Amino acid sequence: MARYTDASCRLCRREAQKLFLKGERCYTKKCSIDKRPYVPGQHGQQRKKQSEYGLQLREKQKAKRFYGVLESQFAKYFDMAVQRSGVTGTNLLQILESRLDNVVYRLGMATSRAESRQLVRHAHFTVNGQKVNIPSYLVRPGDVVALRGKSRSVEKFKAVLEITGSKVLPQWLEFDVDNMTGRVLSLAAREDVDVQVSEHLIVELYSK
Ligand code: SF4
Repeated sequence: MARYTDASCRLCRREAQKLFLKGERCYTKKCSIDKRPYVPGQHGQQRKKQSEYGLQLREKQKAKRFYGVLESQFAKYFDMAVQRSGVTGTNLLQILESRLDNVVYRLGMATSRAESRQLVRHAHFTVNGQKVNIPSYLVRPGDVVALRGKSRSVEKFKAVLEITGSKVLPQWLEFDVDNMTGRVLSLAAREDVDVQVSEHLIVELYSK
C-alpha cells in the first residue's frame, strides 16, 4: 500500500498548522512549525494569494493528513458521508473519528494517530472481544475497544496508565483505565472533533 514516507513535520508546515503527527515532540520546543513557520521548499517564504480552489484543496489535504488517510480512502469516506442523512461535512468528520486508530488515540492509548495506527497493525487491540488489526476499521456506538491481555505487560502501555488519568476524554468515549478498555458511547459530535478544519470547504471541493 502506498504511504507517505517523507518528514511528517513538512506536512504541518505545508498546512501552516500543527497536525500533531509526532506525539510528545509536538508539545515541545523541538516542533518544527515553531522554529520554521513557513511552507517548506525553495519558495516557501514567498507570499502567495490563495484561490478559492486552493483554500478548499488545503482543507481537504489538512483533514487527510490529520487522520493519516490516503486520497482514495478519503474520497470513499466522502461518498459514505453523502449517503448518510444529516450534514455531509459533519458526517465526514464522524466517519474519520470512528476509525479504530483514531479511537485508540482519543482514548489515550497512543501519543499520536501514527503511533496508534502502528499499534493497531501489531494487533494489540480487540473490538467486542475479537482481535482487530485494521486501522481503518470503523467502530460503532456500543463497541468496546480493549487492549489485549498479553499486551498489558508491554512497557509502552504501562506508561499509558500513568498519563491517561490526566487526559480529557471526548464525550462520545469512556475509558476504564484499570481494564484498559474503552467504550464508544455515540458517534462523535462536531464539537468533540479536535481537528481544526473547515469541512464545508471540503464538501464544496468534492461538489464541483
Ligand atoms: Fe507537526 Fe508535531 Fe512536527 Fe510540530 S513536531 S511540526 S506538530 S509533526
